[in-house]
Formats: sequence, C-alpha cells, structure tokens
Amino acid sequence: MQQTRIRNGKGGHTPGSVADAKRGSDAMTLKGPMPVADVAPSSNHVGRLILAPRDAEVCPDRDRLVRILSEAGFIAERIPDRDWAYLVGPEFSALLAFVGCAVAIESDPQTGGPFCHVVVPPASVNPRWCHGRNTRAPRCPGCRARLSDWPLRVEQFEESASMPGADRQETAVDCPTCGEARPIRSWDWKRQGGFARLLIQVEEIFPGEAVPTEGFLRLLERATGCAWRYFYVQD
Ligand SMILES: [Zn+2]
Repeated sequence: MQQTRIRNGKGGHTPGSVADAKRGSDAMTLKGPMPVADVAPSSNHVGRLILAPRDAEVCPDRDRLVRILSEAGFIAERIPDRDWAYLVGPEFSALLAFVGCAVAIESDPQTGGPFCHVVVPPASVNPRWCHGRNTRAPRCPGCRARLSDWPLRVEQFEESASMPGADRQETAVDCPTCGEARPIRSWDWKRQGGFARLLIQVEEIFPGEAVPTEGFLRLLERATGCAWRYFYVQD
C-alpha cells in the first residue's frame, strides 16, 4: 500500500489516484499503524527498484559496494534483525529522482508499515532471475520481437544454472523472428525484470516512481568498473 508509505507534502500528489490517497489516509486514521505481520502480503507489495550491473555475469565485490553506498550517503546503518538491510542515508533522495512532487519518504521502521530501505544481498554464483508480477515477455535486442515462450526458456536457464559447472550448458535462445541466438539473460527485459549476481534493492518503490540519477549511475560505474542498469519488480 504505497499510500501508507508516501505521504503528501503540501500541494503535492502521490503517484496513485486521489481515491487511493484518500483511502490510504482513511485507513491510517481509522486503524492506526498496523502490526508488521499484517502489512504488505505479497500481492500488496508496492515494488522494489533494483540496480544491477548491465552484464548479468559481472559481479563486483559486495563489501566494497556497501562501503561506497555508505560513503555516498545512499545508505546509513544496518537495520537490526533484517538480513543485509540498511536505513536510507542522508543523500538517498538526491541520488534517486522521484517522479511527482513533494513526495515524503517514510524511512522509519518504527512506524510498523512499509518503509523505504535498501537491501544488498550477498552475491550469487550464477545470475539470479529477478522477476515479479509486473514481468512481461522480453524483446529481442536485435529486432525487438517478443519472446512468447519465455517462461519455459527461463525455466531451462534456471535448471541449467543449478547444475554443477561441468554439466552446465547455457542454451542460447533463438529469436523466432530474426533467428539471432543469445542467452535468455541478454534479452531485453526492459525495466520489468532481469538477471544479476550482485544487486542493490530499494524497497518499497512503485515501478517508475524513483529513478537513479545519472550521477548515481556514474558513481556506481566508477566504483565498480562496470556499467549499471535498473528495473522494477513487484512480488
Ligand atoms: Zn530478433
């Protein structure tokens, strides 16, 4: 429920409709803060912004990345009892551009509702598929054709990735239109999903609501030596 997290500044508007905002404020007034366990069942997950190296195989050092995010003021201290989670830092709202005016970020875990925070999970050996209910068929980077049997292709990729190294054969997927072959992770998932070994998750961000600034992407690139991309996932 984004309306419990994003509060209007004076004269501002939320990304949701006026009705949404009204419902939200009614809910907050009537019920007060909800216990954590009752908040955001998966279908209500607002979404997360994910930043990841553009090449899904590339895996910068996690500790170094966390240090850089901290020095840049993107993250602050660790959140107790939450794995790999950090409070947002003083420069958080300067490194992300928020769409819409006067959006106030709820960053206090004490309120009990969904709040904005950053998670940097440990890197994985193979690229993980980051996807959600907003994920759609990827397009061929060459001819823009959609891949209709993508669920099957992803399943094959994950099966192959779970094999020990020697048995693994990552099958390239042929484009049904232009015939070019490329691994499923290299298809164009737009901003609706993707693959990554190391990633930065920003909770809870509605798809498109916040965009990393050019400066932030450049900072990540300089610090890690690789280009970064971003997308959104809703559980
Ligand atoms: Zn194609």
